[in-house]
Amino acid sequence: MTTTSATVYGYPRQGPDRELKRAIEGYWKGRLGAEALHTTAADLRRATWQRLAAAGIDEVPTGDFSYYDHMLDTSVMVGAIPERHRAAVGADALDGYFAMARGTQEAAPLEMTKWFDTNYHYLVPELGPETVFRANSAKQVAELTEARALGLAVRPVLVGPVTYLLLAKPAPGVAADFEPLTLLDRLLPVYAEVLADLRAAGATWVQLDEPALVQDRTPAELEAVARAYRELGERSDRPELLVASYFGRLGEALPVLAEAPVEGLALDLTGPAAANLDGIAAAGGLLGKRLVAGVVDGRNIWINDLAKSLSVLGTLLGLADRVDVAASCSLLHVPLDVSLEHGIDPRIRDWLAFARQKTAEIATLARGLSHGTEAIAGELAANRTRLAARASSPLTRDPAVRARAAAVTGDDTRRARPYGERGAAQRARLGLPPLPTTTIGSFPQTDELRRARADLRAGRIDTATYEERIEAEIVEVISFQEKAGLDVLVHGEPERSDMVQYFAERLTGYVATQHGWVQSYGTRYVRPPILAGDIARPAPMTVRWTRYAQSLTERPVKGMLTGPVTMLAWSFVRDDQPLADTARQVALALRDEVADLEAAGSAIIQVDEPALRETLPLRTADHAAYLSWATEAFRLTTGGVRTDTQIHTHMCYAEFGDILPAIDALDADVISLEAARSHMRIAAELAAAGYPREVGPGVYDIHSPRVPDVEEMTALIRAALRAVPAERLWINPDCGLKTRGWPEVRASLENLATAARELRRSQ
Ligand code: GLN
Ligand code: ZN
Repeated sequence: MTTTSATVYGYPRQGPDRELKRAIEGYWKGRLGAEALHTTAADLRRATWQRLAAAGIDEVPTGDFSYYDHMLDTSVMVGAIPERHRAAVGADALDGYFAMARGTQEAAPLEMTKWFDTNYHYLVPELGPETVFRANSAKQVAELTEARALGLAVRPVLVGPVTYLLLAKPAPGVAADFEPLTLLDRLLPVYAEVLADLRAAGATWVQLDEPALVQDRTPAELEAVARAYRELGERSDRPELLVASYFGRLGEALPVLAEAPVEGLALDLTGPAAANLDGIAAAGGLLGKRLVAGVVDGRNIWINDLAKSLSVLGTLLGLADRVDVAASCSLLHVPLDVSLEHGIDPRIRDWLAFARQKTAEIATLARGLSHGTEAIAGELAANRTRLAARASSPLTRDPAVRARAAAVTGDDTRRARPYGERGAAQRARLGLPPLPTTTIGSFPQTDELRRARADLRAGRIDTATYEERIEAEIVEVISFQEKAGLDVLVHGEPERSDMVQYFAERLTGYVATQHGWVQSYGTRYVRPPILAGDIARPAPMTVRWTRYAQSLTERPVKGMLTGPVTMLAWSFVRDDQPLADTARQVALALRDEVADLEAAGSAIIQVDEPALRETLPLRTADHAAYLSWATEAFRLTTGGVRTDTQIHTHMCYAEFGDILPAIDALDADVISLEAARSHMRIAAELAAAGYPREVGPGVYDIHSPRVPDVEEMTALIRAALRAVPAERLWINPDCGLKTRGWPEVRASLENLATAARELRRSQ
């Protein structure tokens, strides 16, 4: 009988009480010294390793811990420090590290972007032809040594060289077409040196993560993969190498890795990535290699189907030398421990597994595989009971919702009249000037608002008092906008702590957590709600506030909703039905809200979809199917309104190039987009693609406290006018204002309104 071990690739970093966040932020504020920070971090690492070992994880990961981000750690490991940060890094390694992450007065930080299709963000390496790599294995060696001192079997985890380069971008001043992958030959000796250092420090195995291989790769890139692992594999002073991939199927990269002289592969076998199983068979198996099977979903929160996983593992036993059990990816992407969630219906809580529960599942599966199913009979029975309860629970299946979703027709997902007619009817109803001005929705979330919410939660104030405070805020927001001379007003979203959570709390089928924090970036953590069951809307969610705001002014107030795709993207989704089905249910609930807003008098309703672009599948082959259900869900949300009701949508993040047809397919009357930093490029792109409806490319970058002056915004509007005619151009900021302070918001919006007025006069 083979022995199977249990392992994970990484674990949540923050600690049970988010101690790491507090320590790092304390250090930034000067409240805590570097020594104390290091001690907190070392204590947390030790506690995690010991907890993992106690839970039955045979080989614990090291090096996955980070003060900010593991890609940034990798840049430090290979010496890729941008010129502008070198002095800071030279003066003090820790402060220099945080300078790269957060910037200083003198030097901008590294750019941040999404880690594949997760909601984790990494710092993008900046490379160029002049980049000189230099090995710095100190962090990796130190963590390895710490864990080995506990007497544990340990496997350091590194971002692999190919993924590192593929996720990098040309440094400022370097030609935009520079391809970081051309630096591979320079980078490999540095990886070889780090691997040798780890082996000298006692590592038997080292894991190299190559998630970039689950995306479409060119033959040249696959050739680079082959070269990289041939070269690293041929070194004699190295540990055994485990190349890991996750977030999807390897496809054409699988045979390349199967042939590489490395001792192990770790593959994702969850959801659609189960296709890796056929890939392994097609490659003739992985005989001679260790296979780490990611059968437990590392990025969602549902309990595993243990019997099904055992059967996959059983099949794999015939295809590799040794099969170990793991989660599909690092557990970084799930919260820590579901047993802390006392607010969740215990019936639903039984179906949930966070990092700690997933660890137990992995250990159970490894035991089952080594010793036979009798050894885990109790766990299997309990698991079966929970799965059956979930499958048949009325909490997950609402017949009325299902019947309604099944009855949706093509007409429901289309506006009754084409845009030409709608535009005319809306202009007649609204009577707006050319170049109308508006904002994206939220106004500053002040300390008073946050305090009021905390007071309400703690029972220090009652609902009536809380609502009075919200109304008082709305009065301020409306009166400011009128005075500034904006044309289409908003109520400012003071009642929303978060644009997804607010709606999740008001829809049945959604579950909120109390402690379900997941790292978004650095010390920023979010608590994604859980789409647990069929979605219904028991009562209107926003009408009260919009109606109140409208009662204060003659000007139109936009109703403001979060779109169905974004609701899914920033939540944990169901794994027991297609995403398209969940999206349709959410869309129907939002459709009712849209209808109620319209009935209450809203002439303009905005449905935000900032996540439409970011949820794009990693493989191009999967784009069309996703965009089809995603745009349909938006149109189902908005398709039922009158011809003279104007539908707005909003998206952030600047790269829209590949989804222009999908933006068109939303059929929104007006779209506002982030554009200030990219000099209105999106306006030109949309115009070039023949986009026929109204556009509001942002003229005010809300990501910084800077106040843009009238001239600057005028220049941006003029640039937009070169692409979009005045009748179809809106003037607005890039995004919501909730993270900004009132003084800068006031000044910036006054300038924005002035710029629009002056241009109107000169038109
Ligand atoms: N209406 C939201 C706001 O203004 C939109 C936020 C977003 O696009 N991320 O806050
Ligand atoms: Zn935005």
